[in-house]
Amino acid sequence: MTYDVGEKPGVGTYCCTNCDWEVDLDDSTDTLPPCGNCGKGHDTEYVDC
Ligand SMILES: [Zn+2]
Repeated sequence: MTYDVGEKPGVGTYCCTNCDWEVDLDDSTDTLPPCGNCGKGHDTEYVDC
């Protein structure tokens, strides 16, 4: 299962599929941001870590 930028997958830790950068979402209303490492100007896909 993968997630795109802007999705609200729920509380948890998600990893960029390109570089394994991790983002923690601590609220069910949080949206996935662009990857903080490689995602500037690019689409980022995440998976559950
Ligand atoms: Zn990345």
